[in-house]
Amino acid sequence: MADGSALNRFDPYAARAQFPILSRTVNGKPLIYLDSAASAQKPRAVIDALTHAMEGSYANVHRGLHTLANETTDAFEAARETVARFLNAETPDQIVWTKGGTEAFNLVASGLGQSLQAGDQIIVSQMEHHANIVPWHMLRERLGVVLKWAPVRDDGSLDMEALAMLIGPRTRLVAVTHMSNVLGTVNDIRAIADLAHAAGALVLVDGCQGAVHCRPDVQALDCDFYIFTGHKLYGPTGIGGMYGKRAALEALPPYQGGGEMIATVTEDAVTYSGIPHRFEAGTPPILEAIGLGAALEWFMGFDRDAVAAHEMALYDHVVGRLADRDWLRIIGEAPGKGAILTFTVENTHAHDVAQILDRYGVAVRAGVHCAEPLSRRFGITSSARASFALYNTVEDADAFVDALIKAREFFV
Ligand SMILES: *Cc1c(COP(=O)(O)O)cnc(C)c1O
Repeated sequence: MADGSALNRFDPYAARAQFPILSRTVNGKPLIYLDSAASAQKPRAVIDALTHAMEGSYANVHRGLHTLANETTDAFEAARETVARFLNAETPDQIVWTKGGTEAFNLVASGLGQSLQAGDQIIVSQMEHHANIVPWHMLRERLGVVLKWAPVRDDGSLDMEALAMLIGPRTRLVAVTHMSNVLGTVNDIRAIADLAHAAGALVLVDGCQGAVHCRPDVQALDCDFYIFTGHKLYGPTGIGGMYGKRAALEALPPYQGGGEMIATVTEDAVTYSGIPHRFEAGTPPILEAIGLGAALEWFMGFDRDAVAAHEMALYDHVVGRLADRDWLRIIGEAPGKGAILTFTVENTHAHDVAQILDRYGVAVRAGVHCAEPLSRRFGITSSARASFALYNTVEDADAFVDALIKAREFFV
């Protein structure tokens, strides 16, 4: 919930001014960008960091003995340190780079798959993104691992009692989202970790939204893995990764094979590097990592509690203005949720809603939002989603509501 004092510590207009793209128009109208849960826009600091890296100091990392190689390696590893500070990891070598959130789930699934057996159980929740479902389904198909589904209540909260009942002696992994990209629900990760660890299971957290809005402290959450993606954190595409507890990472076999991830290679044998490089075969996304480091340094320059309060104030403003519209159904109203508004409009397909809004310059997403089991749970085939970021203003919120009311009038 927004409290006034936190709101005073953040100026959305000053933040917004740092995003060049937000001054463009769409269909002759000022751009109102409410699709940040799918991908966030990039501030000048990130654009400049990428340009600077390409113009000023660039070479491949780790293997060079020349100045540019050393400078680029330093910048690349400094970005890893920035992520470690951002997540409060114990040490930077517990941060593994991947090309995005999805690849990190596949990395863990590939590694765990080498020791799981038929009948072992993986628990996920009904509110998971496909990235935190499909890799486990692939283990089910390949190994006969059993997927168990923790149910979501009508208000969009996770049913913690039911989750506790699912955890048992054959549970190997509990994989849940920190914050739902559809419902906005924020889960009590520490409580889930305590339950899972008591049964000897690992806990993997999908932090692709949580890293943006929930100010995660991986040590306080006590999770074994925490996955994030760069492009939702105001950074570039092509970069993401995960935090892992040291023991969890060291127990995980390598993922892809190639250069950089080995200690020695002979004709008969291979030995692997230590963490984190063991999981980073080949030339990594160097520029993208440097860009993400710049994004996080920039983001950490704000009072992130104040940013979250600002985003939630916009959400509350929109929901307040739409409160008496009985043609609108909001999906996800759990207490303590984040600033994601998913909704359906009576008798209207969400794709049509999104297309009409686009005529007014308003960008929202429509579909199942990569969470088909959740759509099914709520008995809908599609919904529209407006998601709020630090650069949105109350003018954006009002423009969205005005356009939505006009869209509704268009269809009745
Ligand atoms: C975006 C997202 C992902 C996947 O991240 P990619 O960057 O698309 O790989 C996974 N989980 C959640 C909750 C997300 O929002």
